[in-house]
Amino acid sequence: MLSERPRILIIDDEEVIRDSCDQALKREGYIVKGAENGDTGIKLFSEFHPDLVLIDLKMPGRSGIDVLGEIQDIDPNVIRIVITGYATVSSAVEAMKRGAYDFIPKPFTPEEIRLIISRGLERRRLLLESEALRIEQERIRRNMISLVSHELRAPLAATVQYLEVILGGMAGDISPEAKEIMGRCNIRLQEMLELFSRWLSLATFDAEEMAGHFKDVNLYDVAEESIQVLRPLADEKGVDLVLDAPEDLALIKGGKGSLGEIINNLISNSIKYNRPGGWVKVILSEQGEEVFVEVKDNGLGINDEHLARIFEEFYRVDGRRNAPIKGSGLGLSIVKKLVDAHGAIISVESTFGEGTTFKISFPKIFRPEVRL
Ligand code: ADP
Repeated sequence: MLSERPRILIIDDEEVIRDSCDQALKREGYIVKGAENGDTGIKLFSEFHPDLVLIDLKMPGRSGIDVLGEIQDIDPNVIRIVITGYATVSSAVEAMKRGAYDFIPKPFTPEEIRLIISRGLERRRLLLESEALRIEQERIRRNMISLVSHELRAPLAATVQYLEVILGGMAGDISPEAKEIMGRCNIRLQEMLELFSRWLSLATFDAEEMAGHFKDVNLYDVAEESIQVLRPLADEKGVDLVLDAPEDLALIKGGKGSLGEIINNLISNSIKYNRPGGWVKVILSEQGEEVFVEVKDNGLGINDEHLARIFEEFYRVDGRRNAPIKGSGLGLSIVKKLVDAHGAIISVESTFGEGTTFKISFPKIFRPEVRL
């Protein structure tokens, strides 16, 4: 928070400028200190912790531009205003490019300096507030992660295990009615567990950390494994699931687990949002510097109004609590984050009632700077 009496540091070699600013600003109730050159200014900056610094660009010794950069490294939220002579407008522009908030040309009146300082301090107040908000959000996020993983997920997982012991008949006989009800409880609890795991993987996602473990991966192997895992779901729903891909596909850099998660999510959606007799095709191909993964279906399709929002967290086309097809609305937001972390691009095309195609293009050579 900005204190009742904001602190202002003036770094200028001209004593008359320091004194006139000092007089004009002290009258406003600010705490003001002055330094006659860059070195003293930086030293004073670290001790005084000002909210705003006025820096003369043209001083003997260390240049105002250098001082500007150094004090920002110490406090990124400090407001820096440069004082310029008539002849140095181009250096004022340079200073603005380096993040100075504003500039004031010499000579200036007390009223001009008071005005520019009060605007700068308003900006400082907003920056400090948004920083405090960011810290608070981060604290809440950490608390939520700990609550979900320890207080909610762990006891839920234990309850599921107890239920499975009872359902497996290992705790003695139970009536068919009780078994039926417990079976339903088990399914609902499993859905909650799935929701918690998905939320946790989103909340704890760290793209940089993930990229640190990337290896050469053949997407053919990943897609084949996903198809094996999801084949029973497709059979149960009466959906034909096929892979169309060359085995000697170029390798990409990625995480095998997360690539599997991307493809699993897309295939399982294509099965879930489909009809008996429908099909899902997983097509892998390459061209130039890219490898493509397409997951195509002739299922329910998505209309344009929803299509624009399906990658948002918790967004479901049918958001009703009793929607016939269950889901958390987190699957595609996880997919999007994982795709971004691979420096890849995902796109979707869909026609309501006819089907949907998700297409991802992975770069053959991973460049972290493209991702960031
Ligand atoms: P969930 O499936 O858990 O609801 P997702 O984030 O995976 O969440 O998907 C968001 C929404 O996008 C889904 O609710 C669904 O309506 C729609 N959707 C996703 N994939 C398909 C698809 N292949 N066909 C039709 N609708 C889809």
